[in-house]
Parts: sequence; C-alpha cells; structure tokens
Amino acid sequence: MASKDNDTIAAVATAPGRGGIGVVRVSGSQLAPLAKAILGQEPRPRIAQLCRFRGNQGDVLDEGIALYFPAPHSFTGEDVLELQGHGGPAVLQLIMSRCFELGARPAQAGEFTRRAYLNDKLDLAQAESVADLIDAASTEAARCALRSLTGEFSRRIHELVEALINLRMLVEATLDFPEEDVDFLKAADAFGKLTAIQTALEKTRKEARQGSLLREGVQAVLIGQPNVGKSSLLNQLAGQDVAIVTPVAGTTRDTVRETIQIQGVPLHIIDTAGLRETEDEIERIGIARTWEAIRQASVALLLVDAQHGITAAEQEIIVALPNTLPLLTIHNKIDLNQEHHRKQGNDLYLSAKTGEGVEALRTELLKIAGWQPEGEGLFMARDRHLDALAQAARHIEQASQSGDRLEFLAEELRLAQNALSAITGEFSADDLLGEIFSRFCIGK
Ligand code: GDP
Ligand code: ZN
Repeated sequence: MASKDNDTIAAVATAPGRGGIGVVRVSGSQLAPLAKAILGQEPRPRIAQLCRFRGNQGDVLDEGIALYFPAPHSFTGEDVLELQGHGGPAVLQLIMSRCFELGARPAQAGEFTRRAYLNDKLDLAQAESVADLIDAASTEAARCALRSLTGEFSRRIHELVEALINLRMLVEATLDFPEEDVDFLKAADAFGKLTAIQTALEKTRKEARQGSLLREGVQAVLIGQPNVGKSSLLNQLAGQDVAIVTPVAGTTRDTVRETIQIQGVPLHIIDTAGLRETEDEIERIGIARTWEAIRQASVALLLVDAQHGITAAEQEIIVALPNTLPLLTIHNKIDLNQEHHRKQGNDLYLSAKTGEGVEALRTELLKIAGWQPEGEGLFMARDRHLDALAQAARHIEQASQSGDRLEFLAEELRLAQNALSAITGEFSADDLLGEIFSRFCIGK
C-alpha cells in the first residue's frame, strides 16, 4: 500500500543549472511499471543501461544511462531508479514531467534520506552526516562528516549504550532480589564499570565538540576604523586556505561577512566598518544587524593602526561590546614603524601587508576557538548531539553519586541510555525528524 512514506517521489538530484550530466532520482515501493514506461523496456537491476527516455507517445525525451536498484538494496531501501540524462534544466524538466505523469510527485527536501532512515538504511546521526557532507565548507569538515556517515560516531554511541545496558541489567537484577544490596554491586565492579563509561563518554564528547567546531566554526567580529587594514588582513588570512563558500539555507549573503578557513575550522568574520551614528535608514538596518552579529560572536578582533594604538573612536566601540565577549587587540602595519610597538599583554602585532605576524594570529584564533585536534579523527557532531551527550554525562554523574540508593541509580542509568539513543534516533519524535530533514537539499 502506498502511503505518504512510500509513495513515488522524484527529484533532480544534481545541482541546478547547466552540467554535463543531470540525474533524476525516483524512489517508491513499486517502480518497475514506471521504469518500464520511461525506458521502453524492463529495467535491469544494478546494471548501467544506455536507454532512450520516452514520453507518453513513445517520443524521445533524452538519451542517457538508467540505473535501477530494486528494494531493499538501494539508498532508500525502496525501488530506486536513476536517470542520468543531459544536464540542462529544460531536458531534466521533461523527464521530471514524465515521472509525474506516471504517478510520481516532487520529493521534499531530504525525503530520500528520510526514507533511508525510516527503512533502517542509516541511523539518524548518519542521515544528518549526509547533509553535513554535502554542506561541508572545508576538506577537513568533509572528512569528518564522512567518518560519521560510515557509522564511526554511531558505533561509538552504540558501544556506550551497550555498556549502559549491561550495567542496568546488573543493577535491576540486584533490585529484583531483596537480599542483594550495594555490596553485591560492588563485588561485581558495577562502579568500576560506571567510571569506565564515564571516561569513554568524556572522550567521545571531546571529539564531538571538535567535530562541531569544524561544522559550526567560530564567529568573530572584526572591529576597526576605516583604513586600519581590515580588508588587507582578511585577504592575508584567506590567502593560504582558499575559502570555499557554501550557501547556507536561511542566510542571505552579507557583504560584511566573510568566512575564512584555518586548518579547516571556519572562521566567520564580520567587518564592522559601518558601526557609527547615522540617520540613514538602510545603514541603520545594517548596523542593527552587525550588533546582532556581535551578540552572537564568540570573539571580537580589534584592529588598530600600530602607530596610533587605541584611540577614542575604538574606546567607544569597546565599551559598547558585551563585557563577556573575549577581545583580541591586533596592532597592524608594524612594517611602517618599528619603534611604536613594544609588546603589551596579549596584544598581537603584525603587518597585513607583509604577512609578518599573521601566522601567530592564526594560531591564536584556533586557540580561542578551542581547537585541539588529536586522536584518530573526529566526528561531525551537531548541537543536538552535543546536548544529548551532555545530558547523558549529567545522568551518569548523578548515577555515580547514588550511594546505596539503587532505585535512583537504576533510573539515572536509564535516562543516560535514553539520551544517547536519541542521537542515533532510536526514539525520535516526528517533529525532530521534520526539523532535521527539512534542512536537506531537494534530491537528497
Ligand atoms: P580597511 O578599511 O580597514 O579595510 O583597510 P584596508 O585593508 O583597505 O587598508 C587600508 C590601506 O592600508 C591600504 O592602502 C592598505 O594597502 C594599507 N595597509 C593595510 N595593511 C597594511 C600594513 O600592514 N602595512 C602597510 N604599510 N599598509 C597597510
Ligand atoms: Zn575594508
């Protein structure tokens, strides 16, 4: 029976615009008739077939490769048909229209991956990493997403869940026998096992936080008067790692916002040149937005001309900044005058023109971001995962302080397990799924 979750969906899976090849992907519980109608022949499983794609009068819409993956051995776990035609918008539209004529409907964002999840082809963390891989803004982020996609992160979570289940069985068995007590648990090294889980969870959390940095990056605001060298500094920073700009859903490109990569960590820098009193309505909106960005920033970079240091104009901005916002003062143009910049405190001294001192700035920025890559590799984690890991850690901490209140211990272990299971999606509410998959691109 076709329902909303297994009716036939179709989408252009390749990026919009012109291209050598364009792929239409179709998925549904029963695709053989549709495939036969378009291809004019029986689709052959898992074989590249050079075919003419046909309209309802037998007319040729395009010529290309057809790939047919019958359920369950496909990305979605349903029958999947991929039509690789020529990559022009008009010809792809013809193929799409033909699919609609044959009963398909347009796929929603992320709907293919959602089906893969619902059909147990991927767990939720893996499904999310599909989107993260596509959206990866650096090669490091892409590698990280791929590790999550292949299930490294999920395996880690499963190991923790397994260990918790074993421990819970021990505790619940003790609860079931009134003659057993906390001494029985001690003899079975239950608390040693709990500590081991705690240690493993901390390790995973640390790696997940690093992975999340690669995904989310760091928000920095660059403050400075006109001509102190902000643009020059951005160019210097961007010079070595060429920034890959990817459009993020829901954000419009802002001219004062630049993203550079430092060792793959995206640093989103907002140029605040426009921060000043103004009567101009448009400029006011821009300034309001800049302040909004400042409120969301995790560090402020104040660029000053090394020859003047901090002047009244900069003071005015500094006092207006939230006082919890870390501030790094950078003295620029040290190539002009070597005498004026005796090093003070944590201030950095550099020349955006010659590049002197810029490497030290990169290092400092990574330090501020909390970037400490180590170990075998990272996982691409989202805030949702970090929250769940934190929640699990809290419950395990509670559990470790339960003393001889065994009911309490059992309950905290149960809650810790639930928190972890939410990461891979064992118990997920529909609205969470909607939220996750709606951010995918169409065709994925
Ligand atoms: P912005 O207005 O703050 O973005 O400043 P720009 O980056 O546009 O630079 C203003 C002027 O200062 C330009 O002429 C730059 O070439 C110059 N400049 C920027 N950084 C340096 C530096 O480190 N040394 C020297 N000598 N000139 C610089
Ligand atoms: Zn500028």
